[in-house]
Amino acid sequence: MEAIKLTDISDAVKILVVDDERDIREGIERILKRMGFVVFTASRGEEALAILEKETVSIAILDLKMPGMDGLELHKRIQVIDEQIIVIIITGYATIETAIEAMKQGVYDFIPKPFEPEHLRIVVNRANEKLQLTLEAEKLQAERARTLIDLDMEKSRIRTIIESLPTAVVVTNTAGEVVFMNPAFLGSLDLDASLTPGKKLESYVPDDGLCNMVMKISKGEFEKDGEAATHEMQVSENKYLMARGRPVLNEREECMGAVVTLSNITSLKMLDQLKSEFVAKVSHELRSPLSTIHEQLAMVLNDMTEEEIDVDQDLIERAKEKTNGLISLIGDLLDLSRIEAGGVSHNIQSIQVVDLLKSIVEFLGIRAQSKKQTLGIELSTEEFPMITADPMALESIFGNLIANAINYSPDGGSIMVKAQMAGKFIKVQVVDNGFGIPQRHQEKIFERFFRVKDDNTRYITGTGLGLPIVKGLVDSMNGSIELESEEGKGSTFTVLLPV
Ligand code: ADP
Repeated sequence: MEAIKLTDISDAVKILVVDDERDIREGIERILKRMGFVVFTASRGEEALAILEKETVSIAILDLKMPGMDGLELHKRIQVIDEQIIVIIITGYATIETAIEAMKQGVYDFIPKPFEPEHLRIVVNRANEKLQLTLEAEKLQAERARTLIDLDMEKSRIRTIIESLPTAVVVTNTAGEVVFMNPAFLGSLDLDASLTPGKKLESYVPDDGLCNMVMKISKGEFEKDGEAATHEMQVSENKYLMARGRPVLNEREECMGAVVTLSNITSLKMLDQLKSEFVAKVSHELRSPLSTIHEQLAMVLNDMTEEEIDVDQDLIERAKEKTNGLISLIGDLLDLSRIEAGGVSHNIQSIQVVDLLKSIVEFLGIRAQSKKQTLGIELSTEEFPMITADPMALESIFGNLIANAINYSPDGGSIMVKAQMAGKFIKVQVVDNGFGIPQRHQEKIFERFFRVKDDNTRYITGTGLGLPIVKGLVDSMNGSIELESEEGKGSTFTVLLPV
């Protein structure tokens, strides 16, 4: 019924006129047709009902007094067929009582006989307006219903797509509870496919790092328009996953939780391991012949006659310098391979970090002096507890940082090593007023072989492996390292080591 009405809006409105008096019936028909309506006429109630079986009529004009079925009775029957038909009664006996009675039954209006054509037109126009309003309202209602259906379909379509994604997806709320996870997520963690959301993330994935990352994102502690937060995790002996997470924001940019994808990085990990093994092997194989060449060059230099010195000394000195560079590169590569393979800290002892710092500062002081730099150490007055660590590792960490400060500060610069307690950590800072590191390079500074190339650093030799070694060692001791630096002003490396 609704659908038919909707299409009727553009069609002419159909009106049924029922009157036993032929003149009146035809008179009304003429007036209405001129007004643009489609008109059906009937002289009796039964005839009218037969028309209604075939036609969808919107307005019915009924004579009240007719032989057989009267207007009110016909109105009742019409209401049963379609209660939306607007009924107007024509009557020669327009008394208040009949009017009230008819209105109670839902008749829309009256036209008393005899009437002027104008009166009929006014009443029918009013009825038609009401009809159009009703149709308009119905149309809006239907449109709303359709939009809701569309929305529902869109929602389930997106859900189906996410369910079918080959990438593992999990969504958590701000309390860290899982609100959605797709089959790929369960699959990648080898979890039972029948698991349902609702519990805390840790009950599905017992990985502290991942849960911390999700909570950090949910609390808005992760930059909103920055890159995704990442976390690498080992889920079984031979399976590594990379989790990437971002906040889920509403229209007001408030955080509603986190969305995390997991990708399998096992093969990358394996490749990385193979590469490290290869580098370690090659470095190892190169080290002894190079050392031999280096020593032989030293011997040649030693045994040179005066004449030979004049001609070849420079050449051989340079060759010796280069082999020295290569030997230290190989040393760094081997150190790095060892750290990456987890084979550090063989010689764990109880150490007083402050004493160790003093001796490194003393040792490197000679190098600083040769550049007319001041290298000092500043210790807070509190008592420093001993820490258990490999002294070689600590020497490597602070030796590298202080040597860098010397290397990357101009002649006459000043370098300060500061130590103090910070809760359960010893905090050591190496502060210089040297060249500094441009902001855009700062996040790459701990990557292997990365070196800043500019006018300041052009003539400074190095391998780009010092800071990766430092970072690897600090990480292996469950510590942390941070850099603050401003180009032209200097750098501060801050190391925190757990006591
Ligand atoms: P290397 O010193 O052998 O080049 P590192 O890994 O120790 O390698 O350092 C990487 C790069 O970081 C250096 O080449 C240098 O550009 C920059 N750098 C390190 N420490 C400092 C510092 N204190 N001040 C300025 N730049 C630094």
